[in-house]
Amino acid sequence: MFDDLLGRLGLESVNSGACHSSWIDHPGGETISSRNPATGESLAQVIMASTDDYQQITERSCDAFLKWRQVPAPKRGEVVRQIGVALRERKRDLGLLVTLETGKIRSEGEGEVQEMIDMCDFAVGLSRQLHGLTIASERPLHRMMEQWHPLGPVGIITAFNFPVAVWSWNAALAAVCGNSMIWKPSPETPLTAIAVQKIVNEVAAANDCEGVFSLAIGEAHDVGESMIRDTRLPLISATGSCRMGERVAEVVARRMGRSLLELGGNNAIIVTPTADLELALRGILFAAVGTAGQRCTTVRRLIVHESLIETVIERLKRSFASLRIGDPWDDGVLMGPLINERAVETMQQALKAAEEQGGKILYGGKRLPRPGYFVEPALVRAEPGMPIVGEETFAPILYVMSYATLDEAIRIQNGVAQGLTSAIFTNDLRESEHFLSADGSDCGIANVNIGTSGAEIGGAFGGEKATGGGREAGSDAWKTYMRRQTCTINRSADLPLAQGVKFDT
Ligand code: NAD
Repeated sequence: MFDDLLGRLGLESVNSGACHSSWIDHPGGETISSRNPATGESLAQVIMASTDDYQQITERSCDAFLKWRQVPAPKRGEVVRQIGVALRERKRDLGLLVTLETGKIRSEGEGEVQEMIDMCDFAVGLSRQLHGLTIASERPLHRMMEQWHPLGPVGIITAFNFPVAVWSWNAALAAVCGNSMIWKPSPETPLTAIAVQKIVNEVAAANDCEGVFSLAIGEAHDVGESMIRDTRLPLISATGSCRMGERVAEVVARRMGRSLLELGGNNAIIVTPTADLELALRGILFAAVGTAGQRCTTVRRLIVHESLIETVIERLKRSFASLRIGDPWDDGVLMGPLINERAVETMQQALKAAEEQGGKILYGGKRLPRPGYFVEPALVRAEPGMPIVGEETFAPILYVMSYATLDEAIRIQNGVAQGLTSAIFTNDLRESEHFLSADGSDCGIANVNIGTSGAEIGGAFGGEKATGGGREAGSDAWKTYMRRQTCTINRSADLPLAQGVKFDT
């Protein structure tokens, strides 16, 4: 079955993790195993790119950029449209591969591919709307305008948990904006990256734009570091942990590059006394255990009004207990495994720390006695000041806290370093407006009567503070992938200066 899947995705003959306009047959990097986290077994071996391979890939990417930037934007959009069509045709298979390599349930695996398709559709429309402004000049017979030009080859660094969707957030926009790109995926998910690259290669070959999309699977310390230091890449878009983002921000800023950072979250849901409790509980459950708590938008802190807290805890305990955990391939399973052994250990350490800091485990948290990296979701009674509550542990741990006033709830919610997503469940207009106001949530995403995870691509996605401040996907996120040029055009025979400055000779 797995071999058939690899065959349908054209992967049986590719074990190279390095591709520019064509695959590098024998890349110089180490060989890694792609593992199925539901069994711990190896799915395939992939040879990673070395730093020398990276150099070769980047040279080709720079050449491809010089050609690609001259292609009219709507024609670039046509290439992205064809990528969207190719992804539609492979949606099921690519989704299954995402499930196999990440342990997401099948619906989430396919949902991720749907997100790629949505991004392509969005970018096609955008390719005819890379608008600049016309600005009134203060000088007679002058005109000002703003235009947007391609930026250059973009470095795209992605995390394991959205192995293909995050690439598309970047790649679809970067491509219509006229940039070439080099993708460094997580070494945890090399197969899905190769599958995407194969699909894109077919489209690129049919459109004579080989080299626009390239791939360098490598470790952080070699390919990753080469990429972030590389002055040929004016933009590094990096998705991953806050620790990774700090390093990327520092290195890229030192060379005056631009970085687009999508980092860790520590998201909260506030449940107020007027909330529709049934709705809230459904929203909390998906946000807490979807993708086994391995979404950047996973709800990690639940801030519940003191009048409701016991009810909410009891209901969640019951929901957690009836949750079907198992092979993500099976129908009806809602929670698969964690990504690897280290993730299981990190979760156990966090739970131990929570207890040492005064928290109480109300439900779950144990490793399940079966192959692979399965755990029970954990519900922990906590206080906002506990250091572990301020950290993002990338596992299904939900800290529950109580509040008395909405001001206090918002203070607790904003009282962490990260600022990605937030939500309130309320039927009170004043509460929801307060939450969305300048003195409400300090996050990049603020939802009312919806959980913290599962964003649509139409909005700009990203967060504040330690989450990095970057915005990807919809709205005007495309602007980060272009350079802005302000132009002033004089059609008079005079040379008046701005601000009335006189410089007569
Ligand atoms: P990670 O930080 O371990 O790795 C992410 C990527 O960064 C990998 O490709 C890794 O090889 C690379 N990397 C690490 N150090 C690097 C360096 N010095 N130079 C260049 N590249 C480097 O993260 P992960 O475990 O793969 O993913 C989980 C994390 O990602 C969580 O913190 C999660 O919240 C975050 N995440 C954020 C978003 C978002 O949009 N905000 C989306 C998905 C995941």
